[in-house]
Amino acid sequence: MTAFPSDTEVLRARMVEEQIVRRGIRDPRVLRAMAEVPRHVFVDAEFSHVAYGDHALPIGLDQTISQPYMVALMTERLDLLPQDRVLEIGTGSGYQTAVLARLVGEVYSVERLEVLAEDAQERLARLDVRNVQFRIGDGTLGWPEEAPFDGILVAAGAPGIPHTLMGQLRSGGRLVVPVGPIGRQGLRVYEKRDGGEHELLESLPCAFVPLVGEEGWPDAKKSS
Ligand code: SAH
Repeated sequence: MTAFPSDTEVLRARMVEEQIVRRGIRDPRVLRAMAEVPRHVFVDAEFSHVAYGDHALPIGLDQTISQPYMVALMTERLDLLPQDRVLEIGTGSGYQTAVLARLVGEVYSVERLEVLAEDAQERLARLDVRNVQFRIGDGTLGWPEEAPFDGILVAAGAPGIPHTLMGQLRSGGRLVVPVGPIGRQGLRVYEKRDGGEHELLESLPCAFVPLVGEEGWPDAKKSS
């Protein structure tokens, strides 16, 4: 019997082509992961008909599942290898988590809102994703017991550079983080250098829900 692609496979292929490849994402591993992870599983039933649209969607509690292009862009900029261990702050729906889990050895994902964390965990279990560890709590404090990480992805807008997280990154690793208030946010890509210094590789316009956390933000004014 010929295997025909399912409806959602067709929608994902179109999403990858029209929203992601067209905007310049080229890493074949990232494109494959985006074509494979079933985004409709990560949104409420009332939004499943628009799950593959070019936008973020509400996931409850004033939070959103990120736009597919943003997920692909952040993932590509982390420049990940299959054996890497990645820290994600802001599990949300678990969609970005699932994409990362296809690309690396282990994902450590922290979410402050218990309800979202539990739903995400359930979805990933249903999809048989096994290389993710979850924690409910304040992600601005990172996950010190498992540090250093090869890459760190922050899925909510920080007021300044998250120094605690930078401290949990291995030298040579990348931190991708939206910084600044809504309307003036930049998706920043940092690479950590040998002496512990960090270099800003890039800053691109973006719009994320705020990161709510404990870390002091001494440089928040400077970077806003
Ligand atoms: N990539 C996710 C995006 C979720 S939105 C997705 O596509 O579904 C950002 C998430 O960050 C929200 O769920 C919010 O609750 C969470 N968040 C905000 N501040 C946080 C913090 N300090 N620690 C952990 N999670 C945080």
